[in-house]
Amino acid sequence: MRSWGKIVAAVLAAVVLCAPSEGQTLKSKKKAELLIPRVHRESVPSLEKSGKAIDTIDTANPSIKIVLYADNTWKYWRAPEDILQTKAFSEYWDTTVPNPYQVSLSDLPAKINIWVVDTLSNYRCPNKTKVYSKFGIRHRRRHQGVDLPLHTGDPVYAAFSGKVRLSRYMRGYGNVIIIRHENGLETFYAHLSKRIVDSDDWVNAGDIIGLGGSSGRSSGPHLHFETRYRGYAFDPQWLIDFETGTLRHRLFVLQKKHLDAGSKYVPESEDEEEDIYEGDTRDYAVADSVAAVKKAEEERAAAEAAKAVWHTVKSGDSLYGLARKNHTSVKAICALNPGLTEKSTLRIGRKIRIK
Ligand SMILES: [Zn+2]
Repeated sequence: MRSWGKIVAAVLAAVVLCAPSEGQTLKSKKKAELLIPRVHRESVPSLEKSGKAIDTIDTANPSIKIVLYADNTWKYWRAPEDILQTKAFSEYWDTTVPNPYQVSLSDLPAKINIWVVDTLSNYRCPNKTKVYSKFGIRHRRRHQGVDLPLHTGDPVYAAFSGKVRLSRYMRGYGNVIIIRHENGLETFYAHLSKRIVDSDDWVNAGDIIGLGGSSGRSSGPHLHFETRYRGYAFDPQWLIDFETGTLRHRLFVLQKKHLDAGSKYVPESEDEEEDIYEGDTRDYAVADSVAAVKKAEEERAAAEAAKAVWHTVKSGDSLYGLARKNHTSVKAICALNPGLTEKSTLRIGRKIRIK
């Protein structure tokens, strides 16, 4: 019988061979990065006006189309009806309060992988400018977002596609819009002079959702922008470089420590975060391969067991007789029964495998 331990060892060897070996220099790691596309680390430029759509092309998936633009660019387009089926848009849905979750921090995993933008989605910087006031503790109060200066009446864009969960006037926020996204993130846009979208509206990344202003508790025209997960705010600068307007990475690894009030974006820590992520990915890959091999082997063993023919030895049975009766050979029967040889005496009541 084949041992699946051997197969697992082979898989492990293959994974280890792909992993960087010890004593490797930084330079060779950089070279390796050129060979392996690291899509999750790609930054995404802010979607500026891509002009008029001139045509759409169907794909094999009826809810996904390719949209062609006048400037020869193209983008995937996914039907909102399809995206809205996601649980994210039904659970904890409340159009009146900023935080409907009531989720305890201890119920959140230590680390959450969030695909911010994939090949089917877009990103637009809500307001491209230098950050005027950062996330964190400010005048002994928790500042849950970043303040981005603008002129009253300037357009404010939806950073990502999603469904408007809340659009109303609130004392602190003034005119505020909260959009929930498919990946579970929520983005807040506050102090607007005008709200253009209503709760339950679908918005695409880059749609103008309101106009900048100074409504609510605000000292001058600016956009107060927040990013939250399950009601907990984290520094939006982890996601967006507001000065260049660029989304830092397609994949954001949200860690529980990011949800602390004082946890500001630290640029130097990014490589460290990346190393942790890469290590984890490798561990998961190994675990997945091992599990897949084990499952395949178990299925094969189960299929084989289902085909097996067993016989309970009765008085007068001989190996030769059983082999002849079942159109097999004594040698084949012995191979199926560990310890059984041509010379063995058959004990009455013993179960032996014939096929
Ligand atoms: Zn603010």
